[in-house]
Amino acid sequence: PAPLLGLATSARPTPSVAAVTDTDALLARRTASFAEVQEHYYEAPPRIERGWREHLVGVDGRAYLDMVNNVTPLGHGHVGVADAVSRQLRRLNTNSRFHYGAVVEYAERLAALAPDPLDTVFLVNSGSEAADLAIRVALAATGRRDVVAILEAYHGWTYASDAVSTSVADNPNALATRPDWVHGVDAPNPFRGVHRGADAARYAPEAAAVIAGLAAAGRPPAAFIAETFFGNAGGIPLPDGYLAEVYAAVRAAGGLAIADEVQAGFGRLGHWFWGFEQQGVVPDVIAVAKAAGNGYPLGAVITTREIAARFRSQGYFFSSTGGSPASSVAGLAVLDAFRDEGLQRNALDVGTRLKHRLEELATRHPLIGAVHGLGLYLGVEFVRDRATLEPATAETAAICDRLLALGVIMQPTGDHQNVLKTKPPLCLDDESADFFVAMLDRVLTEGW
Ligand code: PMP
Repeated sequence: PAPLLGLATSARPTPSVAAVTDTDALLARRTASFAEVQEHYYEAPPRIERGWREHLVGVDGRAYLDMVNNVTPLGHGHVGVADAVSRQLRRLNTNSRFHYGAVVEYAERLAALAPDPLDTVFLVNSGSEAADLAIRVALAATGRRDVVAILEAYHGWTYASDAVSTSVADNPNALATRPDWVHGVDAPNPFRGVHRGADAARYAPEAAAVIAGLAAAGRPPAAFIAETFFGNAGGIPLPDGYLAEVYAAVRAAGGLAIADEVQAGFGRLGHWFWGFEQQGVVPDVIAVAKAAGNGYPLGAVITTREIAARFRSQGYFFSSTGGSPASSVAGLAVLDAFRDEGLQRNALDVGTRLKHRLEELATRHPLIGAVHGLGLYLGVEFVRDRATLEPATAETAAICDRLLALGVIMQPTGDHQNVLKTKPPLCLDDESADFFVAMLDRVLTEGW
């Protein structure tokens, strides 16, 4: 209603960040306040002030190409999301238990994206919460306490999501602090696995054997949790049939299959949930976030009515801000943009062309050991020796710094930090993709 709009817009104008000229002072303040607990992989990190599509602009006016932002599929500064959230914030943003408008519409539209029989949605604020809640749903629904997870995976920082995150790079204490209810299985990474590609078939039977072993020992697992496209190692597809075999094993033991789609889901691979779709399986519980709100905090767990009922009878869920009216309209605007802006087609088209161009670079630069991935979920893996696959960790960090100087924002990933995470907004155009390839070519040619 109009009178309320007046109230909201009469607020004092906020000072513009662009007015800050002493960027060193700004950085010192940022570091003192919170940057140290955040990821920090650049010698001299950029100071970003605003963004548009796949482009970012620093406080000094410098433009950057954002090649790592897997949270903004629509791109930065998306007007549809901004307008929807702004309008809703002026109307109502308490997560009133008695507000049923946008929240219900969003839950229905999200559930409609998931395969049958998954039709029940719990709304949260982030990927960590989604993965954590997915685990809690499985524990409560089965009345069990053990979970099987892939070693070297990342699922979040909250207690349960962190417990199943056994990536040494993301959490140096992962192996030491892993609780005894978490059981790791080898990362199905045929490229870097002990026996490499020839033995890709070993991973699923080994995981199934761990699950069967737990059941035989009287500790049948509540769940097996995995990303459906192995992100932490740089976007590596799971071996054919992997999920079918491991899901069958965990179900045979009475447990649930959890798919962490926080990063792979929502079309980064060219279709909503292509990670498990192309494996020909349907999970029991799906966790989504990141792309769902295009940067506005929004995550969800999607499961079956029957599992949700079992969880509700044993467990507890209430989130003060999860699925707020504002995050719900953000989610709806994101779904509208996916419907209207051809993002998934673009992810596949631009991603396929980008991958070919990166593979062409690999023929000229031996440091590139492999180009992994599909759609706009790619990884460029640097090795010192293609035979031994010795990770080029220091080189990767230096290359990231050089790329930054040329205006490209990247991030090392993988347990050896030797893979360029390549997960740009899904609206990336060919010109931007070509710019990235040209700058990488230049760094690899001129040296770092
Ligand atoms: N799961 C996966 C697969 C992720 O990649 C991430 C974030 N990198 C998370 C969960 C955690 O999401 P968030 O940072 O939103 O808590």
